[in-house]
Amino acid sequence: MPVKKSYDAVIIGGGHMGITLGAYLQRAGMETAVFERRHEEGSAIFTSECTAPGFLHNLHAQYMEFLDWMPFYHDFGLEKLGARALYPKAQSGIAFSDGRPPIVLYSVEKPEHLELSRKSIAVYSKHDAETFVEIRKKVESLEEMMVERLYNPPELPTAENPDPDFFAREALLEILGLPSHYGKASPRTVIDCLFETPELRALMYRKSVEWGIPVEMEGMGMAGITSCFWIGENWRLMIGGTHTLAHAMVMAAVREGMDFYESSEVVKVLLKGKRAVGVRLKDGTEIEARKLVASNADLKATLLEMVGEENLSPLWARRARDFRIGPSCVLACTGLALHEAPRFKSARHNPDIDKTFYTVVGFDTPEEMLDYCRDAEGGRIPRIPGAGIWVNSLWDPTYAPPGKHSLCGWFFFPKASTHTREEWAEVKATYNDRFIERFRKWAPNMTRENVIADYFYTPLDQQDEMRLMEGDFMNGAMAPDQGGPSRPFPEAAHYRTEIEGLYLCGPYMYPGGGASAANGYNAFKIIAGDFGLDKPWETNGRGY
Ligand SMILES: Cc1cc2nc3c(=O)[nH]c(=O)nc-3n(C[C@H](O)[C@H](O)[C@H](O)COP(=O)(O)OP(=O)(O)OC[C@H]3O[C@@H](n4cnc5c(N)ncnc54)[C@H](O)[C@@H]3O)c2cc1C
Repeated sequence: MPVKKSYDAVIIGGGHMGITLGAYLQRAGMETAVFERRHEEGSAIFTSECTAPGFLHNLHAQYMEFLDWMPFYHDFGLEKLGARALYPKAQSGIAFSDGRPPIVLYSVEKPEHLELSRKSIAVYSKHDAETFVEIRKKVESLEEMMVERLYNPPELPTAENPDPDFFAREALLEILGLPSHYGKASPRTVIDCLFETPELRALMYRKSVEWGIPVEMEGMGMAGITSCFWIGENWRLMIGGTHTLAHAMVMAAVREGMDFYESSEVVKVLLKGKRAVGVRLKDGTEIEARKLVASNADLKATLLEMVGEENLSPLWARRARDFRIGPSCVLACTGLALHEAPRFKSARHNPDIDKTFYTVVGFDTPEEMLDYCRDAEGGRIPRIPGAGIWVNSLWDPTYAPPGKHSLCGWFFFPKASTHTREEWAEVKATYNDRFIERFRKWAPNMTRENVIADYFYTPLDQQDEMRLMEGDFMNGAMAPDQGGPSRPFPEAAHYRTEIEGLYLCGPYMYPGGGASAANGYNAFKIIAGDFGLDKPWETNGRGY
């Protein structure tokens, strides 16, 4: 469609956070357009037929853990627009190469599922089983509070409360019956203190990293607990592919009247003095923003290139330059088109491991898991080609042709900049073979002959295609100094910038990455306050 040259609000980037902000602004009465540089909306919320025709792979976002609460999902009726989800009973598990009993953790949909988790852990340790169940139940009681915090801008420090990071609060640990020093410890320390079973520790280390929480980073203990005990049993599968969520979001926003332009890269934020007044596209087209510009594009590009370092104060230029990207949230992804789904040796003890939503493969000990994380964070291609995998065709037949299966998996990997393009090409061509060779020791039917076609997606691919810099799915490291009210840095924590009329809403903002739509929603709340718009959250009865 021909580009309109003037809007109230212009959003740079059509990732799901940008679409969220756009939809709410349009509904609040601002004429809004989103400009996305790719041919597709939704960034990492996408599905690809990358191996063979008819095999769908969620190469990126796979687990939808926020759907029950996500304001956008409910306020805009996304289910009716095709974004529907399944909730697999066996949620996460780990299998072993010698066929030892697996550990399987189940959904929290029904109380009896928690009993199944207890039973699975108790095979190894009654103590660990009781500890897991006790903490899981208490985490449940925190849920409402945690959701309210996610879908509100972070509390900022005051003289009375200089350290308001909610998710690092000692009070939370008290409610969970855990000692206060866990908050300052690393997830590994917390996991080691809580659990004696090496098999469970290995699974928990991996679950901690799954949400980008570095397992050995001090000060991330509470975040690790959230990752291991809350997020982990709430995973939903989008029927027909994760992309159905992104499509439904755009449909909802467009139905509201918002315009969405694909293949429209923004290269400049236009300024009038210290005020953002529009954007320039790569083809030279200038779009006026009568009220505001908001960016879903990465932080450094937005501030240092699109605004330009010369237009920033020394403090903001410094903050933007110093902002760290990776290494703990960097993934490589595999896609395998299969004749048969994997059949694990460990299934002889509990067949549910063959139908577990997220299965950890390739690690027999917690030490192997730590070595693997250390390799990735240290800039080395992990020597142990182990992964977290899922076979969505086990639940949803639309993921593969009849009788066949579609597998995907994640490897924590080094940052894109640690290797040359030639080295990445070599990894892309060879790493799946290493993975399959190891996988076979865990599930003997996972031979090369079982693989119809395969695909490997490197961190460099993600940077090139999605502008997920370094392949970091949060577009900015999670760390105590870049989290909570310090994300991305203290002066920008409330989605505003020092440039009047320029806002930020990417995953480098609070609360971080993940398909939560929270950053877009929270940015909307701030903008609604600044521009005197209606505040739907005050009347929706939801509390956020
Ligand atoms: C491999 C992988 C697996 C993941 N798995 C999960 C999961 O299972 N569950 C979960 O909840 N989350 C998961 N995530 C995280 C989640 O998908 C992301 O954190 C989230 O999508 C980021 O939000 P976003 O889409 O708004 O931002 P981004 O992905 O940062 O999107 C930014 C958008 O801006 C566009 N853009 C950039 N520069 C410009 C420009 N100059 N002009 C115009 N447009 C521009 C980009 O093309 C992109 O579309 C995963 C991410 C990855 C990469």
